[in-house]
Amino acid sequence: MTSVHQILHDRFGFSHFRGVQEEVVGRTMAGQHALAVMPTGSGKSLCYQLPALARRGTGIVISPLIALMHDQVRSAESFGIRAAALTSVSEDPRSIRDALRDGQLDLLYVAPERATTDGFSRLLQEAEIALFAIDEAHCVSEWGHDFRPDYRLLRPLLDQHRDVPRLALTATADRRTRADILVQLGISEDGLVVAGFDRPNIRYHVRPRDGLPGQLKALLAGQSGAGIVYAPSRDKTERIAEQLSGFRKALPYHAGLDASVRARNQQAFVASEDMVMAATIAFGMGIDKPDVRFVAHAGIPKSIEAYYQETGRAGRDGDPAEAWLFWGAEDFARARRRIETEVEAERRPQERDRLNALAAFVEAATCRRAILLRHFGEEPPESCGNCDNCIDPPATIDVTTVAQKLLSAVFRTEMRFGVAHLAAVLAGDDNEKVRQFGHHNLSVFGIMDPDELALVRPVARSLLARDALRADDYGGLSFGPGAKAILKDGERLVIAVPPKRARRGRTRGGQ
Ligand code: ADP
Ligand code: ZN
Repeated sequence: MTSVHQILHDRFGFSHFRGVQEEVVGRTMAGQHALAVMPTGSGKSLCYQLPALARRGTGIVISPLIALMHDQVRSAESFGIRAAALTSVSEDPRSIRDALRDGQLDLLYVAPERATTDGFSRLLQEAEIALFAIDEAHCVSEWGHDFRPDYRLLRPLLDQHRDVPRLALTATADRRTRADILVQLGISEDGLVVAGFDRPNIRYHVRPRDGLPGQLKALLAGQSGAGIVYAPSRDKTERIAEQLSGFRKALPYHAGLDASVRARNQQAFVASEDMVMAATIAFGMGIDKPDVRFVAHAGIPKSIEAYYQETGRAGRDGDPAEAWLFWGAEDFARARRRIETEVEAERRPQERDRLNALAAFVEAATCRRAILLRHFGEEPPESCGNCDNCIDPPATIDVTTVAQKLLSAVFRTEMRFGVAHLAAVLAGDDNEKVRQFGHHNLSVFGIMDPDELALVRPVARSLLARDALRADDYGGLSFGPGAKAILKDGERLVIAVPPKRARRGRTRGGQ
């Protein structure tokens, strides 16, 4: 039998395995199950492609995105692998089924919806199977960020072929999600193989949003090379592209644009060495541009996993790259409202946890990389020397009293006013609106001194981020579940000393 190294060399043209590939391939070759958690770009495909070539029979690959499946087939074919995808757009499904039965295929890609049908199960009874690869395996877990019920239904199919090795693969799974994937897919704990997640060449920066166009221009002034600015909506991608052009070539990219425009903008970006793409998160998946020098987020990502994934599109060539996140309290308020109104009740607790973890990350005064890596189950050093908090450690300040006074004001004014009005009440400013509501008669009227007042907005932002305050559509603030701990139970609130507004002008020229 040819050795796996020989196949690696002869068929793939690679001189050696990368990272954990050898371990994963080894397990699969030995007929054992495995869950490989490997970052994007680390070569997951090879982990099932190679054993599919080396073992007898066909490797069955469960993959959730039909659009990507056909790309995966083409990529496998480029290594001389006999691959096909059985989808609703397959040209000749019958001949694919025949090829499978006749042992003429190395790899067959199929979506979970199809893999879980009786027809497919019968088809596999007539074929020899080399392995099952379950791609994007986090979809099987409700803890994962992209749960797909069809993944849950795969288990009976896998169990019909108990002797066939299962290889689950994902780039994004925190500890809890991994444990769940193992259970759901029937893989023993010793089958977990985790690659290092650190991207040491990426420098992380997180800033409160404070005049975004100015912040982005300051960033561009100190930053050469191509970059992506992720925006939360289609309109915003267009607005940002407009604001930045003149400064730098900048184009928008989102699903609402004509396919031809999208393709043109993407090609321009891939070819360019200094262009900025203002895009929704759909952009970047599957594009091959190793020299993206920076990724900026104009608003919060969906989760820490999403953040890692999206910033990971920077610096794939290993040269220094930057990740910038500009966040506002309203991002968290909006995300929390979405959870409470649009997410099914059973899934809300974990969605809240994910958002809280993200809030803790943006608010942190400690090493960003350490927080990210701990999230992925690693035990990194306390300090990386290559993130904003390591390079320029922020002073911290205990703002518990300010938070308590603000929460009292929210309570006394019956939980419906925005931060500007609350600040006026706390300052003892008896303006017309304060008088109109009789708020000059409240016990909280005028209880803050100017130093405390300067902290009201950062404190409100922090309370919103940790769900001690919630905001309605008009910015009216009310208590969230975290309020009581701070107001009554002696929990301290410590934040990084907010950057002074006067320093804003100095950020120009990059830092
Ligand atoms: P992932 O699915 O983990 O994002 P891919 O499987 O697409 O990553 O692989 C990323 C790139 O790395 C591909 O171009 C692939 O050909 C290349 N690659 C994979 N394994 C090796 C290796 N051992 N040596 C060199 N290049 C490799
Ligand atoms: Zn650090």
